Amino acid sequence: MKRVVILGGGSGGAVAASRLGKWARPGEFEVVLIDRSEWHDFRPSYLWVAVGKREPEEIRRPLALLEQRYGTRVFRATVTGIRPEAQTVETDQGNVEYDYLIVALGAELVDTPDVAGCEAPWELAPALELRERLRTFAGGRVVVGPLSWPYRCPPAPFEVAFMLKYLAEQRGVAERTQITVFHPWKEPMETFGPQMVEGFRRFLDDFGVHFEGGFVCVRHDPDRKVIVAADGRELEYDFAIIVPHHRVPEAVRNSPLATADGYMDVVLPSMRSPRYETVWGIGDVVAPTIGLGMAGVFAHFQAEHVVSQIIDRERGAYLGELYNMVGICVMDTGYMGAAVWCNFTDKLFGRAAVPDCRLLGGMRAFRAVKVGFERYWFANLFGR
Ligand SMILES: Cc1cc2nc3c(=O)[nH]c(=O)nc-3n(C[C@H](O)[C@H](O)[C@H](O)COP(=O)(O)OP(=O)(O)OC[C@H]3O[C@@H](n4cnc5c(N)ncnc54)[C@H](O)[C@@H]3O)c2cc1C
Repeated sequence: MKRVVILGGGSGGAVAASRLGKWARPGEFEVVLIDRSEWHDFRPSYLWVAVGKREPEEIRRPLALLEQRYGTRVFRATVTGIRPEAQTVETDQGNVEYDYLIVALGAELVDTPDVAGCEAPWELAPALELRERLRTFAGGRVVVGPLSWPYRCPPAPFEVAFMLKYLAEQRGVAERTQITVFHPWKEPMETFGPQMVEGFRRFLDDFGVHFEGGFVCVRHDPDRKVIVAADGRELEYDFAIIVPHHRVPEAVRNSPLATADGYMDVVLPSMRSPRYETVWGIGDVVAPTIGLGMAGVFAHFQAEHVVSQIIDRERGAYLGELYNMVGICVMDTGYMGAAVWCNFTDKLFGRAAVPDCRLLGGMRAFRAVKVGFERYWFANLFGR
């Protein structure tokens, strides 16, 4: 029996394990999923944890459920090295050999002491810390933004700003609240093309949120309560929410699978390593290499596309899971919802400089879509 090893049990890894469980024939593969965490987190819902709309147990499931549901062997360990020439993965619990390897280790946050106490809810722990800070939020000058780009979910800092605006109104402190999104981009969502810039400008105006573009934050002074840009601009705040730097996990960075900037190298549209026939990369660990934003929706479609190829190799059966390069990010904007829809096909194949994107909304229905998708995600992958 061939062994498929999946590194990471986040969006991409959990979908890959479930699709192997659903689509492969009994006994066709031994599937081993390695993750250092015992949990699968649905990361978009960290924002709802931060505003007290969700409890941690509502937005995560034990990876062990994959074992019960699909027979996946879930191995809790930290991946420390990948040796594709020996078809071996090194972990702190020992080595694991594979016939096929799917790398879905995502991106990780860089611990930045400078912004301690202001971290954005990009993991569960800072989401819970932000919830505590928001309990006493009573308006004032709010700044929200990332230290650098790329980071998980490009529109999410804007979503945070819109949600805080709504919170301020709900608490009756909107009059004395000024919200600013700062960003290294000169224009809001500029790498997503002119339609998105236009749409986000309109949204920011409607919500009365200021945008400070071209702001590469180089320093945070918690005593003076200012953040400072490379060009000397300063933003004073009473309440700051800062997205830390992201980087690729060390095990990938130090492996022969990495590009010069550390993220994993893959060939489009297969998502396979250019050098190793039986190794694929999906999700955030490859997003910067191929020019995609870091989004779960891409990890999801890529996982299905890769599983389809692995089954085809063994069985010679085309399952028809073509790589769908269309993504959608639904935002809770407080009053209602909105969605960023993008087709990256032409951009990824060099036929266009930017993806074809639309900003849809706002409508109450989009909030319902966001709630519905969260439910679908857990039911589809974990059965509850
Ligand atoms: C606030 C927020 C809002 C978001 N909103 C959206 C949205 O609306 N739509 C959307 O499409 N996406 C959204 N995203 C982005 C989405 O969550 C990520 O793009 C997606 O989770 C990436 O999937 P992945 O499988 O590549 O990595 P991840 O889901 O990050 O999974 C990586 C896994 O690898 C494990 N791991 C990492 N390193 C090691 C190691 N060395 N050893 C063992 N295990 C390891 C981790 O524990 C983790 O389980 C959002 C993210 C955030 C933070």
